[in-house]
Amino acid sequence: MSPIPRSPGSPGPLSALETTPADADTRRAVAPVICYPNDSLPPPELARYHAARANMTLRHRLMIAPRSAGVFEVPAGGIFRISCPEGSQVGDLNLFHAANPDERFYSGKTRALHGTHLGVGDRMWSGFPYLRPMATMIADTLAWYGCDAYGGRVHDVIGTRCDPYTHALLSGGAQYHQCCHSNLTRALIGDGFGAQRAEALVHDVLNVFMCTGFTQDSGQYFMKASPARQGDYVEFIAEIALKGVLSACPGGDCGTVHSSDQAQCHPLLVEVFEADPEVMAGWRSPEVNGYDRSHGM
Ligand SMILES: [Zn+2]
Repeated sequence: MSPIPRSPGSPGPLSALETTPADADTRRAVAPVICYPNDSLPPPELARYHAARANMTLRHRLMIAPRSAGVFEVPAGGIFRISCPEGSQVGDLNLFHAANPDERFYSGKTRALHGTHLGVGDRMWSGFPYLRPMATMIADTLAWYGCDAYGGRVHDVIGTRCDPYTHALLSGGAQYHQCCHSNLTRALIGDGFGAQRAEALVHDVLNVFMCTGFTQDSGQYFMKASPARQGDYVEFIAEIALKGVLSACPGGDCGTVHSSDQAQCHPLLVEVFEADPEVMAGWRSPEVNGYDRSHGM
């Protein structure tokens, strides 16, 4: 179809019909290329990590009540497990270098490198200028889920975290204080950060157990009831010394609503293990990123 010429003097909004070029179908048919082919990344030492978890020792347990968050630490080379001890529940996870909170999880670049949802062998990357693996997923009882008929997958890095600002925006100013953003902020204040610093440290999360995708027609972010059940868990090895903060989302299994007290919620359990020291002998944390930071100056 030929484009319809615009009549001079009547700009008006452009319609798709007016702007569709003659070769539109040809342009749409161009095959995509992967933005960041990740086969040149150093492979995770999954065989070692799996051997290390076969003989690991529980060192710490943290139960996180619904609509709250908790802080935990994992030494480099340690293993942490997040589980649903009572029922299906979504968790919003932030990670920091234990000694440097400015090195924190970068969900956008993790998404660019691994895809919209994380699985075993994928890593959680820190932001610039560090950009190194913070944690590697080594076990996942929901690995069977794959991709459902709606395009939904589990453990997403496409959502941000539920927050009171978006809630106020969409609800005409309603105030709700148990969104994951606020839960994470309160937990960091409880860990000793000042209120302003704590809120500024909260970042886009890994949505543990959350089942999400984008709608085919409108491209909108959707959520659906998590397939997680009592006893399901996901496990990570800490590639560097970590401070983790995990919120038990007020959306519960995120099958209906969030940012309110309406959904049924369950606690989340964090367990920190010492990996088998013999298997981990000689293992080292990854170095920070190798870019020289001169930026062409
Ligand atoms: Zn949430």
